[in-house]
Amino acid sequence: MSSYVGRFAPSPTGPLHFGSLVAAVASYCDARANQGQWLVRIEDLDKPREVKGAAQDILHCLEAYGFSWDGEVIYQSKQTAHYAIALQQLQAWVYPCTCTRKEIADSSTRQGIEGFIYPGNCLHHPIKPQAPVAWRVKTQDFVDHFHDNIQGALHQQLATDIGDFVLKRADGLFAYQLAVVVDDAMQGVTHVVRGADLLYSTSRQRYLQLLLQLPTLNYAHIPIVMNADGEKLSKQTLAPAILANDASTQLLNALAFLKQTPPDSLHNATLATIWAWAIAHWDIHKITA
Ligand SMILES: [Zn+2]
Repeated sequence: MSSYVGRFAPSPTGPLHFGSLVAAVASYCDARANQGQWLVRIEDLDKPREVKGAAQDILHCLEAYGFSWDGEVIYQSKQTAHYAIALQQLQAWVYPCTCTRKEIADSSTRQGIEGFIYPGNCLHHPIKPQAPVAWRVKTQDFVDHFHDNIQGALHQQLATDIGDFVLKRADGLFAYQLAVVVDDAMQGVTHVVRGADLLYSTSRQRYLQLLLQLPTLNYAHIPIVMNADGEKLSKQTLAPAILANDASTQLLNALAFLKQTPPDSLHNATLATIWAWAIAHWDIHKITA
């Protein structure tokens, strides 16, 4: 019995597009090639951004493409009690912040990977009474070194690259970074294969795993699929939905994008035959960063 547990975690902000299919194929093949389990989690924390019916559409599309997941699909929107407990467990490292986006932009003197570094206003001064409160975690002097199975050796110094980051937003929503760490631990996930747009989230997630005394995971970040204009395929860049009646072709295209070089003989093959070939010949090291 393999101890490998992988997962695919789409956000229901629209239908699956080719970029999300590539991430699903990579995590699925890596799990199955390692005799592992493959879980599906719907990351629907941000209800205002959710598109009605998108979660069901995504699951139907995965089925039409021949994916089969293990266990029940988890919905983040039903997990908030667990995130609240985790935030409680982090109380020694978190502090309330009432700064608005504009106040942070006006007072910050440093840019990090994802914008302004939070200058610590609310750590050093009283918070504004009656203002909505976000909770930030102190990044302290955490320097993370980790090995990504595709991207290689990476390191990040949270304080200077990211800054103290939000775990619970002022609008009451738990932040993605906290939710993912709690869910991965609860679901027993051991291997994360996902798009490289999340590469720089990894150190924040590893930091929270450390503070919460949770197991560390193996990571592999696959290259991002771009459109002809060099933009990441996404709902924002109007990436077209993948269609159920085009599954064999799209699956072969995804495998080719992942440098798995499917042979021409698969072009008229059934989905089941393509999957059997893909899993038997899966080699994550053929993917180049
Ligand atoms: Zn603040």
